[in-house]
Amino acid sequence: DHGLSEADPEVSSIIKKEKERQFKSLELIASENFTSRAVMEAVGSCLTNKYSEGLPGKRYYGGNEYIDELEILCQKRALAAFHLDEKKWGINVQPLSGSPANFEVYTAILNPHDRIMGLDLSHGGHLSHGFMTPKRRVSGTSIYFESMPYRLDESTGLVDYDMLEKTATLFRPKLIIAGASAYPRDFDYPRMRKHITYRIDTCWKIADAVSAFLMMDMAHISGLVAASVVANPFEYCDIVTTTTHKSLRGPRGGMIFFKKDPVLGVDLESAINNAVFPGLQGGPHNHTIGGLAVCLKHAQSPEFKAYQNQVVSNCRALANRLVELGYTVVSGGTDNHLVLVDLRPLGIDGARVEKILDMASITLNKNSVPGGIRIGSPAMTTRGFKEKEFIAIAGFIHEGVQITIDAKGFVSGSSKLQEFLKFAVSSDFLLTDKVS
Ligand code: PLP
Repeated sequence: DHGLSEADPEVSSIIKKEKERQFKSLELIASENFTSRAVMEAVGSCLTNKYSEGLPGKRYYGGNEYIDELEILCQKRALAAFHLDEKKWGINVQPLSGSPANFEVYTAILNPHDRIMGLDLSHGGHLSHGFMTPKRRVSGTSIYFESMPYRLDESTGLVDYDMLEKTATLFRPKLIIAGASAYPRDFDYPRMRKHITYRIDTCWKIADAVSAFLMMDMAHISGLVAASVVANPFEYCDIVTTTTHKSLRGPRGGMIFFKKDPVLGVDLESAINNAVFPGLQGGPHNHTIGGLAVCLKHAQSPEFKAYQNQVVSNCRALANRLVELGYTVVSGGTDNHLVLVDLRPLGIDGARVEKILDMASITLNKNSVPGGIRIGSPAMTTRGFKEKEFIAIAGFIHEGVQITIDAKGFVSGSSKLQEFLKFAVSSDFLLTDKVS
């Protein structure tokens, strides 16, 4: 039995290159992070060898005594990390990732073609919240359920709760989804709970009540929620889903938290557990559950809380500096781990800035909000960056934007050199090793 470099030099060398890339670049993708060595050890362990369909104590395979111990430990740590009472909240730690976790919730509590409302993808929502275009139902969620997205008030950059309330009253969704992939502020959970889901309830009580479940997909901010540095969705939501590899800094995976008491007549515990297995998944990824348990132990430490405070503080420093440099920052700032910059006033788009910065080993991504970029602080905070470094990052981004603007001016002409630059800026040419 050989180690990787001996058994497969090809894969080994790709991993080495990727490690170097991660090490050398400024990682500013808001959904990424660097997990710990301890988590990676668990993920790369013998736990990957074991089949354990079912739940602890109720498996379809033998030999699961240690896997049961592990999954129970992981569940307990998850509830403790999010300060939840075991009598009131249950959890499933088996979802393979964030999108499957969300779809599992939908199939647990909805019938095909039931109505849902999530934040529009183009305004910061996630595909799995029901994205569709006028021509095509893109995500599985919008194929199997009827989706009516809510949107931001573009003048403030905040969720347009008035419009959400009006639309929800007419559309009568069975599920309203809070949470986003690109939203720099807290969701107003009390408003979504008391006014919106409740209003639907009272409006339609006479006509055979249709109430809505309220779910929060806290994938981006789960680390911040665990450290109590942003608003707590558990106070208002019936179900909370999350990925485990973003601000939470764990392995790639997903979790679903649910209220133990029935909600709208549905026993969420059995509906959700059954939707995960046998509904949509087979054997859980025990190596991920092992890594997740390690991450959730970290998540209860004072160092983790300090880290999350630093994530927010770094992000604020970045946003403030960008504003000082004259940028239009969506919603005027940030309360969490990400900043959205609207580049439209500068006449350039996020895709080009992303590419130019990539050439300088600064990794961020164009934002789903047209013409913008999304910048996140979790990964570089893990690597020890403080406010001072994030202020410097604002300067680097500024330089990248200036180069993009210059390149755009340059490529609008038609000389041979300009043609070449046009090609270089719009293709991967400059990213290949061929250019020395
Ligand atoms: N939910 C939100 C809010 C996300 O931002 C993402 C991913 O970026 C997901 C769900 C999906 O997670 P995954 O990529 O693990 O399926």
